[in-house]
Amino acid sequence: MATTTAQLKRTYNQLFIGGSWVTPSSDRQIQVINPYTEEVVGTVPSGGGEDVERAVAAAKAAFPSWSATPLEERLALCSKVGELLAANSGEIAAVICAELGMPLRLCELIQVGLPTTTFRSMAEVAPKVEWEERVGNSIVLREPVGVVAAITPWNYPLHQIAAKVAPALAAGCTVVLKPSGVAPLNAFILAELIEQAGFPPGVFNLVSGGGREVGEALASHPDVDMVSFTGSTAVGRRVTELAAKTIKRVAMELGGKSANVILEDADLAKAVPDGVAKCFLNSGQTCSALTRMVVPRRLLGEVEELAAQAAATYRLGDPFDPETRLGPLVSADQRQIVRSYIEKGVAEGAKLVCGGPEPPQQPTHGYFVQPTVFSEVEPGQTIAQEEIFGPVLSIIPYDTEEEAVEIANGTIYGLAGGVWSGDRERAIAVAKRLRTGQVEINGGAFNPLAPFGGYKQSGNGRELGRHGVEEFLELKALQL
Ligand code: NAP
Repeated sequence: MATTTAQLKRTYNQLFIGGSWVTPSSDRQIQVINPYTEEVVGTVPSGGGEDVERAVAAAKAAFPSWSATPLEERLALCSKVGELLAANSGEIAAVICAELGMPLRLCELIQVGLPTTTFRSMAEVAPKVEWEERVGNSIVLREPVGVVAAITPWNYPLHQIAAKVAPALAAGCTVVLKPSGVAPLNAFILAELIEQAGFPPGVFNLVSGGGREVGEALASHPDVDMVSFTGSTAVGRRVTELAAKTIKRVAMELGGKSANVILEDADLAKAVPDGVAKCFLNSGQTCSALTRMVVPRRLLGEVEELAAQAAATYRLGDPFDPETRLGPLVSADQRQIVRSYIEKGVAEGAKLVCGGPEPPQQPTHGYFVQPTVFSEVEPGQTIAQEEIFGPVLSIIPYDTEEEAVEIANGTIYGLAGGVWSGDRERAIAVAKRLRTGQVEINGGAFNPLAPFGGYKQSGNGRELGRHGVEEFLELKALQL
């Protein structure tokens, strides 16, 4: 697909600050690699501290007037971005496919579909916020928190940006976005669309660059009121520490090791392939992936067989080929990390049902890892505890429902989960015992208006829908 890479190649030399495309403080660049062809698919500036200063100053200057702009006007601009995303969806999906490696049809559906929905949904959800209420002799107001720094990862790059930028703008905040350097091209397209939509200068600013420079400068900047971060738990901890020095508000969307609890009365023929799909989506590079399948011990053999059958349907290949179900991992580094985890699973004694650490026979280029299923995994083993971020499923057997719940709750994370049962009420009762932010009941569909976020070390705060807008609001009480 060399021609596709060439056609999709994007070169950005400027940052978007104060309503204009400006020359960065240095000429350093970040090269974006197509993980299938292993070729450069684009370049963006690698900004630094000076660029952060300019962007934060622009956001600070824009805040008084933007926060005082009537809600309907702010929402009309958010809706306009939604329309522009929809109108450019084919191109954006292809760019994300090239920089991330997720199959194209999934990029269309998820990587562009979700952010479009998020921008459009603001007009529906923001008016539901209780902007003003009476509590005894007080009027309680909800007001925008101020200048927001949004720091985002690469795995669902535009979705994670939209989940912060849309509600922050709707709430009346101004934003400085630092996208991931691994898949930043979509952020530049969004900035172009935000410019086209006609937001006032400084309301939205884009500074690409390394996490250590741009990310840390934003997290510690005294004029940034809130940091909204999505990424790994390790970096989230660092951002929280930096933000603490100026007592900023932090919202953290971090890692996960989510459990899919299959009860013995579940329909295995549905539950197991669905669970495999929820683990392998985006080559396993999904924070809410259901990476632990917790199953009754007496059904283990049947589950293993169904899981192996499901895994065999994941055809590896060119993400632009409609037959491809599993793209490469995003980078050579990620591939190495995931292979090491598979080796560790074998070394710690888990049963390898299919896949393994060796490179697949086909394709011969691209950062691929074989879709891998482990069984007889012990709850304390590394592959049952740590986020792998690759297409690796751990099947963990249990003897009692009590034990299943204990296993599900037995990691530092709590982002997502699943429960399968022939009896929905029973599944809901088990779901209520899980210490996690979301639970799918019998494969219930993702709801882009429901709050999304983590318990424990999966983070704090919630994104999406009305709850996502409320993240960016302060409370003020006026006593009468
Ligand atoms: P990451 O390495 O933590 O990076 C996330 C962002 O933080 C990137 O923009 C990165 O910049 C920046 N960053 C890195 N070091 C920084 C520092 N010292 N200070 C400030 N910012 C810094 O995560 P990733 O590898 O991009 O994404 C994968 C992780 O995100 C996984 O752990 C996944 O579970 C998590 N995730 C969570 C959710 C959720 O909603 N809970 C959703 C998606 C992903 P550069 O890398 O460009 O330098």
